Amino acid sequence: MLFLPWSGSALYSEPVPVHIVEHPLVHDALATLRDVTTPPELFRRMAVRISLLLAAEATRDIPSETGCVQTPLGPAEARRLSGNVVVVPVLRAGLGMLDAVLELIPSARVGHIGLQRDEATAIASQYYPKLPGGLSGSFVLMIDPMLATGGSAVAALDVLRAAGARAIRMICIVAAPEGVELVERHHPDVEIYAPVIDHGLNAHKFILPGLGDFGDRLYGT
Ligand code: URA
Repeated sequence: MLFLPWSGSALYSEPVPVHIVEHPLVHDALATLRDVTTPPELFRRMAVRISLLLAAEATRDIPSETGCVQTPLGPAEARRLSGNVVVVPVLRAGLGMLDAVLELIPSARVGHIGLQRDEATAIASQYYPKLPGGLSGSFVLMIDPMLATGGSAVAALDVLRAAGARAIRMICIVAAPEGVELVERHHPDVEIYAPVIDHGLNAHKFILPGLGDFGDRLYGT
């Protein structure tokens, strides 16, 4: 589904490849994640739950092949995942989504991209890329819960592209219009899956209303 984002935003007028996931279970989990009274333990559980649901949506057209299995009562046609899948969490917040994706796709290989955000400028600098080989033939899922300025997302996508990745999906939990616009400008073929596009960023580049600092809430820091 192509989505024409939040009509109040003057940042873009063209449809962008953002898939807004409307499922009520996604939004129920998001409500708990947003709630300032949610303790880290519950926050982690909801991060896993929403990531499972978002990943299921983002993998609707993941490569699969038809075969056959024997049930206790006879043969049945069956579809199993076929292609290579690579999941790439953007550290550190993306780690909170990784177990959920691996629960769905245990055979996925995992790459890591560490990006540090300068607190003053919000500019991302790369400090740890570790990626599996064969990215060009893989279905790549990049996971980063907060698409804020888009700086980290674009930097991470640049790394993936330079390593050969072609089919890339990005899954996030809250997106800002600014981040969507930047990703769209630099990587127009990357499809973004998110439950919501929030209103924008505050002076410290946090998403409003957002949910605060995802990593801090996840790890209780
Ligand atoms: N990172 C976060 O954790 N939260 C924001 O609102 C923006 C970036």
